[in-house]
Amino acid sequence: MSNEGKALKEKLFNLKKSGWEKLSDEELSEIFKFADEYMYYLNSSKTEKEIVQNSKEILLKNGFVDVEEKENLQPGDKVFYVNHGRSLYVAVIGEEPLTNGMRVVAAHGDSPRIDLKQNPFYEDGELAMLKTHYYGGIKKYQWTNIPLAMHGTVVKPNGEKVEISIGEREEDPVFTISDLLPHLAGEQMERKLKDGVQGEELNILMGSIPYEDDTVSERVKLNVLNLLNEKYGITEVDFVSSEIEFVPAFKAKSLGLDYSMVGAYGQDDKVCCYTALRGILNVEHPRKTAVCILTDKEEVGFNGVTGMCTMIFETFIHELLDKKGENSPSALQKVFSKSKAISADVDAGYDPNYPSAFEKNNTSFMGKGLTVVKYTGARGKSGASEAPCELVAELRKIYENAGVRYQACELGKVDKGGGGTIALTLANRGMEVVDSGVPVVGMHSPYEITSKYDVYAAYKGYEAFYKA
Ligand code: MN
Ligand code: MN
Repeated sequence: MSNEGKALKEKLFNLKKSGWEKLSDEELSEIFKFADEYMYYLNSSKTEKEIVQNSKEILLKNGFVDVEEKENLQPGDKVFYVNHGRSLYVAVIGEEPLTNGMRVVAAHGDSPRIDLKQNPFYEDGELAMLKTHYYGGIKKYQWTNIPLAMHGTVVKPNGEKVEISIGEREEDPVFTISDLLPHLAGEQMERKLKDGVQGEELNILMGSIPYEDDTVSERVKLNVLNLLNEKYGITEVDFVSSEIEFVPAFKAKSLGLDYSMVGAYGQDDKVCCYTALRGILNVEHPRKTAVCILTDKEEVGFNGVTGMCTMIFETFIHELLDKKGENSPSALQKVFSKSKAISADVDAGYDPNYPSAFEKNNTSFMGKGLTVVKYTGARGKSGASEAPCELVAELRKIYENAGVRYQACELGKVDKGGGGTIALTLANRGMEVVDSGVPVVGMHSPYEITSKYDVYAAYKGYEAFYKA
């Protein structure tokens, strides 16, 4: 009798078992090998520009070519387009006409960080300091007294570009934002946590040796600018036309005694960038054209020339239509209206330190596979594009046929908060879109956590979706 109940439960319940159970040695070693490659990618891809640059190199090594080099396109062709160095569109041309729709997986390469203001340099207490403006939704106190690396680009009026990367190599110095010692923080500790460290207190410590000529003022700032000038040929005014990002200087590492997780900066959403990219490398002669998008500006609302709202995506599709000889005045709209997309973004994984933020029936757990998020938004699904249940059913079929474990979830408890993704920017173009990604614990912190099992599941899941 008891066995009957067990069998009935197996049949009727959605049991959401751990993905780690009953894996073969072969599967385990595949998962760990993939995670090593992922961590290698993370360590050299901390900004949206580095994501695009490194992803482009991976594409070139795997037979993809810049779409601008192609006169025409045939089924099976593999192309990409780099948009202003900050976002990337990749396509493998399908056997069916483009107007039958595409299979799109879209992730974002930008992550929360500390950007420099355009007039950053000042000196205080004979220390050279930099003013910043944070990027994306961060808990500011988490970004103090950790090693930071400086990445970015300075462009001079003559068009000369200077790329800066300091703090990643073993011999490099790092930077930091100092926080107040507890002994003197009585007043600060009375502030609300969200104001514990305020935006104008996120100033970066840059140097402390004064320039040798003691007849001038601001000698430490002068010394720092002189060092930058000697190395890069830039001056203070050149920072007006710069994009300098400070990101955590530490490396991605295996996390946990069992090596089962990845601890790293920027996994939102570089984890989906890498898995979506690796997935499309395995696509040969798909039925529908497979498209992978690594977009920018997700963390600040999807706008801008490199965000997912940009018309440059339309330009890319037009180029595919033109070069395939399929274009017509209504072709683009047809492509979109027949397309199906995954908004590949992370979700909040259950955190045992803060159980009250989560509703366990509908929360993602690390190690239980890809998330399937029918709707995002906040307070009554506001801002959600919500995936049609028909698409969710199709996605289930694709994942189940590929043996990819998945878990349906939403971000935290109802009315606790919420969040959105680029799903709506694709849905508003006429595509059916569903969110599906990797659970992350400690999202938007300098050191985010994922499960290696889920990272691998994302790779396999996205691959299966492109091929469906
Ligand atoms: Mn994200
Ligand atoms: Mn985010």
